[in-house]
Order: sequence, then structure tokens, then C-alpha cells
Amino acid sequence: MLDMTRKILLLEQTEGFGDKAVVGGLQEFLDQVRRRSLPQLRPEEQLRLGGILELLDGYGSAAAGERKAMLETGLQLIVDMQAHSAASIAPSTSPASQRRARSARSVVSPETGAAAQSVPKVRPVRRPAAGASPAPPAARLGGRAGIAADLDGPIEQLPGIGATLLDRLHKLDIRTPRDALLAYPQRHLDRSSFTPIGNLQPGQLETAMGTVVQVHTQRRGPRMATTTAVVADDSGQIMATWFNQPYLQRTFASQPRVVLSGKVDLFRLQRQFSSPDWELVTDDDLLHTGRIVPVYRLTEGLRPKALRTLMKRCVDTFAQLLPEFLPEEVRRAANLMSLAEATAQYHFPDTWDTRLAAERRLAFDELFLIQLTVLQRRREWQREPGPRFELEDTRVRELLNRLPFALTEAQRHALDEVLADVRSGRPMNRLIEGDVGSGKTVVAALAMQAAVSNGWQAVLMAPTEILAEQHYHSITDLLDRLNGDAFHAPVVRLLTGAVKGRARTDTLRALKDGSASIAVGTQALIQQGVELDRLGLAVVDEQHRFGVDQRKGLRQKGFNPHVLVLTATPIPRTLGLTIYGDLDISVIDEMPPGRLPVKTRWFNPEERGRAYDFIRRQVEQGRQAFIIYPLVDESERMEARAATAEYERLRQRVFPTLQLGLLHGRMKSREKEEVMAAFAANRTQVLVSTSVVEVGIDVPNATVVAIEGAERFGLSQLHQFRGRVGRSSEQSYCILLSDAPGAATNPRLKAIEETQSGFRLAQVDLELRGYGDLFGTRQSGLPNLRVAKLTDTELIETSRRLANALLDSDPTLAEQPGLRARMEQLWHQDSELS
Ligand code: ADP
Ligand code: MG
Repeated sequence: MLDMTRKILLLEQTEGFGDKAVVGGLQEFLDQVRRRSLPQLRPEEQLRLGGILELLDGYGSAAAGERKAMLETGLQLIVDMQAHSAASIAPSTSPASQRRARSARSVVSPETGAAAQSVPKVRPVRRPAAGASPAPPAARLGGRAGIAADLDGPIEQLPGIGATLLDRLHKLDIRTPRDALLAYPQRHLDRSSFTPIGNLQPGQLETAMGTVVQVHTQRRGPRMATTTAVVADDSGQIMATWFNQPYLQRTFASQPRVVLSGKVDLFRLQRQFSSPDWELVTDDDLLHTGRIVPVYRLTEGLRPKALRTLMKRCVDTFAQLLPEFLPEEVRRAANLMSLAEATAQYHFPDTWDTRLAAERRLAFDELFLIQLTVLQRRREWQREPGPRFELEDTRVRELLNRLPFALTEAQRHALDEVLADVRSGRPMNRLIEGDVGSGKTVVAALAMQAAVSNGWQAVLMAPTEILAEQHYHSITDLLDRLNGDAFHAPVVRLLTGAVKGRARTDTLRALKDGSASIAVGTQALIQQGVELDRLGLAVVDEQHRFGVDQRKGLRQKGFNPHVLVLTATPIPRTLGLTIYGDLDISVIDEMPPGRLPVKTRWFNPEERGRAYDFIRRQVEQGRQAFIIYPLVDESERMEARAATAEYERLRQRVFPTLQLGLLHGRMKSREKEEVMAAFAANRTQVLVSTSVVEVGIDVPNATVVAIEGAERFGLSQLHQFRGRVGRSSEQSYCILLSDAPGAATNPRLKAIEETQSGFRLAQVDLELRGYGDLFGTRQSGLPNLRVAKLTDTELIETSRRLANALLDSDPTLAEQPGLRARMEQLWHQDSELS
């Protein structure tokens, strides 16, 4: 009979689970077997077949995917049974088949009376002894003697993975045991402590252990079956219910000791568990309950219990095979678990403490690998000599006296640090971090002057053409002043995509033969075809828009030039220690004197008219205004169109007496240049613009910036927009506008109203949105951190210190092949950085 059932199930499988293996359908066949054949069989056969029927109960009404799973399990069960058919049902070797066989017992004899047994001991999870040497070489797949486990072999080498499960694992990108070990849990549930049943609280997630004292299944039609169990311990009893899992009745009847985890509800004034996770209390380690339980990312059709069971098997077999790649002294110094133990404990922790220790180890790995990469790069960079710029202090004072203003204390300090670098003979790699308007450009100009007076060339790269042009004008102006007049100043050339034809050829030639000392431009500067004669200094404005690759490209252009990066985006200290760890940082944390805070105010949609009146009055007083009309997540074309429409509306209806300009990214370079020149010369008073004015535009006479759709922007971007004004000693204003309901209560808008400091705003942004938005991962150049947190300053500092120490003793990591391989892997996951 068993064999016949097997054949029919196989047939059904080849037929594609359509419930049509036999006339009338498989379900019909199974029902007949239950009614007619079962009573005539010998008792052991009854038991076996009963188990199969139980398992396939509801097949006809199950979904296709479910049928497949049911059938696979059923077939497996039959194979198991036939393998042991010579003996009676027990003992069977595999715990799984043992459990199934037990659940197939037909006699339901609920224990009565609430006299629950004392709580059984949960056997602690086996743990490698501390300091045990990693990777016992002869790990074998459980039970299958002779088959060596292969971390990078197919995941199917674990027993019990059928085609369906395999397919789902592949959906989760789990192909090998190593992949599975790296598929860390998203979180853990604390099911480690049992609440006495009498104390279970409705509304809480609880875990309890007890004995099933009653169980029955009620059928309500072909698709509906409710199994209800009463579970008791010394302190009381509680009901638990499950839907459409009728096999539970037999399971609990033969194995009444259970652990339940889940939410406690009130049902008709009675406490009950609804569909709790359950687990039998056997000699095996508890896996789904009664411990700290990992929660994994799932995919459709993959149940938490199935994945967790697989993960446990995988961790037990393979975690110990993970080779230790950290040098022993590093592990000791940072007090870290072995990789094998950390992996096991991060999946299935014994305690919250071991989970934390495991997390710390895995987080350390990520940070340590980043530090090694960054510090090694820095050391490499610094090994070669850099150009040496001589500049006497008296000469510096002379230059400073020629500026139209005195440097702030902070500018002076940054300048001193830059000068020390360029005089040292080692290549500078410095970041100047200063809020919008803090005066970074002049510091860069002085460094460029130092380069030129020592016979070197310097380049300045800006993120946009508009900004490059503006820098071209301000740098030319500053150098004229520093050298007394235009006649004695070095030759400065502009090189952007907009410079074409004859002008371009001339500029390229001048840069190549060295007759031009300075080039200002966009990325075009480091494109192929641009050759420089003696590049000694590269200044990069708004660095976080430039990738590491470009920096490398710059370096390859010349002679290991000094690199000076300017940014208005404050780098959180922890990021500064990680990805910017190869940069020295100077901070300009002071504004030029006389600057007034930009008054910032939110205007309701109904107050728009008042906002326009305000702008009109400012213009009547001789000032100018930006009206920024940016769209988020729209194409540049859409943005340009929207801004154009707004420009027409404002020009015709709102400000018919004023001169308006329009600026957007779709305009030709020449047009943009003309628009900017007109605005800079106050020939236009109101500039309607898309987000192209975000960075760096410097028109000190502009005192109002109105930002439309303000609620859609990040704080850093709003702050950049706001930074277009407040560039003189006049009082400036920032008007925030939006038609979106609820914008008035937006916490970001509140923050920008109340806060002037870009550094403080970046901090708030970080708190509100996480660092990902402030520094998109790609922009930051950081590899994807899976465990480490950038808020963990202690661990970051420890990893940096130990990475430095290791590089001191082994600069090329020649003795650490495992570590080198891991470094490669980390950066190749998702970052172009190498
Ligand atoms: P950012 O740091 O945003 O690049 P800029 O370098 O564009 O700022 O400087 C902003 C404005 O402040 C410029 O007009 C510049 O001439 C002026 N400025 C810079 N330093 C000083 C100073 N020490 N005193 C007065 N004005 C200054
Ligand atoms: Mg600037």
C-alpha cells in the first residue's frame, strides 16, 4: 500500500501537482484510502500510511506551491519509512523521520490534569572552547561519513534541500554555504526566557513552556480546520490555536512537551496564543523558541522555520570552517572572538552578551579592512616625494596685505596647515571643510600662488560649468591682487566643455608647454587629451561630487601633485576617520566678520503674495533675489520646463516691472554665462533658477533666496541654497515656500528655520535621515557596511590604531594573504574604489 501510494504521488508530481494523478483527483484517492483501505491494514501499516494521509490532508484545496511542498515531504517520508520498514517504526536514525513517525501515531490520548512536569533543561548550544584553533580540517556533513564539507560548494550538499527550497534560496542569493553564513539575521527575538503560563500577559510577545493536556481539531468545511490545544504548567493553562495544520493534533498527542512563542490575545475573555511558533521539547537544541531566535530575510514561499532550520544546520556544519584571517595579535589586542565563533554566535547566540561580542567582531572586520585600505593608500601616496614649494613667511605676509580683507583666524590656521604641507616635500592630501561662505577659495588661491611662484602649475576643478566660470573670475581677480596687478599675475585659463574650437586648442597648448600656469575647469580638466607641463597642485571644490577615481586620474596626470579638497559638507568625525582617513582635515569654523545670520522663514501657500511683496521691496532697495524652483527626482528636462513656466508667470504677472533672468541645466553654456553675468552685474534683479545654483554661486548683492517646494529637500541642500545669500554685511533672507499640506510641521523645515550652522544642520540631517542621504554610499566611497555602524567611534578608533600598527610591521601585508583577499572582496562588493 505504501509503495502504491508512493507511485501515485510520483505520478502526481510528474503531472504537475494538478490534483489529477488518478481519476477523480489525488485528493479523492487519498480520501478513499483513508475510508476503505486504512482500516484493513496491519497496525504498523496503518500507522505509517496514516501519517502520510495526515500530511497530505487538504491537498485538493491547497495552493499549487503548497501542494508541491506537501508532495515532496510526503515522498520523503515514504522513502524514510521504507528504508526502515524491516524494523518496526522505532528506532529510526534521523531525528526528523523519528519525529514524523511519532507524529503518525494514531492514538490520541491527551494527558489530563494540569500537573505539568517540571520545566526541562534546555541543553546549551555547543560552543567551541575559547581559543580553540579554528577549522578542524575534517569537518563532515552531518551523518554522511566521508563527504567533506565545502564552504564554496553548492548549498545542496546539506541534506534535505529539494528543488523548491533550492530555488528559493537562490532567490535570496544563497548558493553556497558561505553565502548562507553571510546572510546575517536582520534581528533577533528574545525567546530565551520562559514566562510561567499563569503570568502570560495579553498583548505581549511571550514564550512559554508546558504540556499539551488537550488537543482537538475542528473541521469547518474542506478548507478550514482549526486545531486547538490547551497547554499547562504549574502556574496555569492557556489555549493555543492554529489554522489548517491538522497534523499538529497527532504531533502534540505523541509529544506533549512544547514551547510556544508568539503574541498572547484575548479571545472571549480567555488568554490564547493565535498561531504561535511552536517547538517540541526533545533532546535536540531548541531552535525556534526557548532561545534568542534569529529572524532572517525571507522570500515568497520560504517559511521562517524552514530557513532557520537550514541556517542552523549550515552554521553547525560550516561556521567552524571559516578560516581566521585576522592576525592573532590583532584579535588579542581588540579582544575579539574568532571568526568561526562570531559567525555562529551572530546567527544563533547563546546569550545577548555573546551576540554583542559576535557583532563587535564582525563590525571590527569591516572597519579594519577599510582602515587598512585607506591607510595603505595614504602610505603609498606619501612614500614618493612631492613637489616642494618654498614660500618665506615675510612673503606670505606681503601677499596677505594685498587682499581686500583680513583672513579670519580659522582661515589663517587652515592656510598655515596647507603651507606646512606644501613646504614639506611630501605630497599634501588635505581637505578643507568650511561652511558655505566661510572663505575657502582664498586659501586655495594662496596655495596656487605658492605653486606658481615655485614654477609649478595648478588646477582648480569645480563640479559645474557655472561654478567653474565663477571660480575662474574670482581666482583671476585674487591672483591679480596678490601679484599687484594683472600684468604681473600668472596666466589663468578656463577649460570646460563649453570652451571649444580655437580657444580650446590654444588653452590645451598653453597648458602643455607651460605658458599657462593655472587652469580652472570642470572634470574636463582631467579628461584625456589634456596634458600639463608641471602639475604641482590640484584643488578640487566640493569634493564629494568627485569620485576617488578622478582623484587618482588627477594624480596620474602629473607629478604626484599636492591635492587640496574644498567642501562645505561637514564630514562626521567617524567618516573622517574611515573613508576620508587618508586625508588630513582643516576646518574653517568661523565666518568672515560682519556676516549676519540669514533670517529664515516659512510662508504658508496663502502668504505667497506677501513673500513676493517682500522680494519686490528688497529689489527697490537695490538688492537682488534668487527664486529657486527645483524638482526632485525629475529629469533635468522636466525641471527646466517647470522653471521656464514659472519664470514666464513671475515675469508677466508678479514682477512685470523688474528684470528677471532664467537659469537651468538645459541651457547652452554661453547662455548660462550671459545670464550669470547679467545677474552678477545687477542688470537682472531676480534670478529664477533650478537647482543648478545649488553650489558655490557668489553674488554678494543678492539678499533674498526663495525656495519653492522646500519640504522636498534635504537639510544640507536647503542650506546650500540658503548659502547663495548672506554673502555681504547686508541682512539677508531665506523664504521657504511649499504647496504641500503639512509642510509647516515638517521637522526639517523647523530645523532650517532655527539653525544657521551647516555643521549643526548636517548633524540634524544625520539624525533624521541616517548618513546614507547625506553621503550616498557611492558618494562617500564607503563599501556597504553590513554590521559596523558609523556611530561606533570606539571601534573605529581601535581598528584604525591596530591597522596602523600592523602596517608599521608589515607595510605590504606580505604575510597576510587572507587579509589581502578580504580587502579585495570588501571593496569589490559594491564600490568602484580600489
Ligand atoms: P566658500 O567657503 O563658500 O567657498 P568663498 O570662498 O566663496 O566661500 O567666500 C565667500 C565670500 O566671502 C567671497 O565673496 C569672499 O571674497 C569673501 N571672503 C572670504 N574671506 C573673507 C574674509 N576673511 N573677510 C571678508 N570676506 C571674506
Ligand atoms: Mg566655494
